[in-house]
Order: sequence, then C-alpha cells, then structure tokens
Amino acid sequence: MDRLRLATVWLGGCSGCHMSFLDLDEYLITLAEVADIVYCPIIDAKEYPRDVDVALVEGAVANEENREMLLRVRERTKFLIAFGDCAGAGNVTAMRNPLGDPESVLARSYVDTAEPPSSPPVAAGIVPILLPRVLPIHRVVNVDLFLQGCPPSAPRIRNVLEQIVAGRRPPFDDMVVRFG
Ligand code: SF4
Repeated sequence: MDRLRLATVWLGGCSGCHMSFLDLDEYLITLAEVADIVYCPIIDAKEYPRDVDVALVEGAVANEENREMLLRVRERTKFLIAFGDCAGAGNVTAMRNPLGDPESVLARSYVDTAEPPSSPPVAAGIVPILLPRVLPIHRVVNVDLFLQGCPPSAPRIRNVLEQIVAGRRPPFDDMVVRFG
C-alpha cells in the first residue's frame, strides 16, 4: 500500500491547532508507520511539495503570503482539511476585521495602542501585506473537510486521520461537518 503523504500548514493562526496535533502523542508513532509528513512547521521543508494526499491547514487567510501559500497548497493537495475554527470561520484571526482596512489595523497595533507609539514596519517587509479582510480558507479555495474546534482536540484529529488512513471519506461522524 502506498504511504500517505501528509502535510500540515500554518497560516494566520496561533499555532494552537498544531499544538493539538502534537498532543496525538503515541499515535504519531502509529501514523509514521503508514504516512510520511512531507511538510510541517516543525520539519525542515522549505517548499510545499507536489502530490500531497492530505493537508491540515491551520489559520485564516490574513495576508498575501497566506493567500499565495494556500493557493499553492490547494493546487498540490488532493484532500484539504480546514484545521480548526480560524481556518474554517475566521475566528480569532478575524477579530481584526471590525477595525476596518489594513491601514486602520496597523495604526491600531503600532500607533494607537503602542507605548511609545511606533510606525508600522510594513515597508521593511517585517509585516506581510495585509488583505483588506481576514478570510476563512473556503473563501479562497475549495475545502474538502472542516475539522472544527479551537483547537480541535487530539482525539478528534486522530479520529479523522484514522479514517482517512483506512481509506474512508467524509462524512466521518457527527464531529466533522462537510460543506460543498
Ligand atoms: Fe489558535 Fe483556535 Fe485559531 Fe487554532 S482555531 S489557530 S487554536 S485560535
């Protein structure tokens, strides 16, 4: 049987979903018997590879880097999972949206609430170019599965991965919602 090519991707999120992935503990050893993790924030892979079977995408789309990365991930991935509520609904990452356009957001962060007031480091490339609004990932690409939670618990992540490894497809159970 071909080994599963699994990726995890970190867009505009707090990394809490990835912490939950690491909470899989000994199941990660079991997973390693049938799957290769070909891209992940904690492995040394600079480029998102081609022919990825499954990707867990954490975080919303907050800036141009996120958007470009997500388009690349979608193009190169068979089965894309919105991993957590920021990816699926904007959630915490989208809390900036009521502040208005990117200029207002940066002014709020670096001038209005900073002590002493600073200036947004956008020109230096330290902060990527913000999108006008934070978007859940299904507003940018098609999503195959939404794994809800902030973060999704390790047992729920395991449940989905076990069923994918077993060759099943959604709907898996009442904890996972399928859209589209
Ligand atoms: Fe963090 Fe929750 Fe967003 Fe996951 S869903 S990135 S844990 S805020």
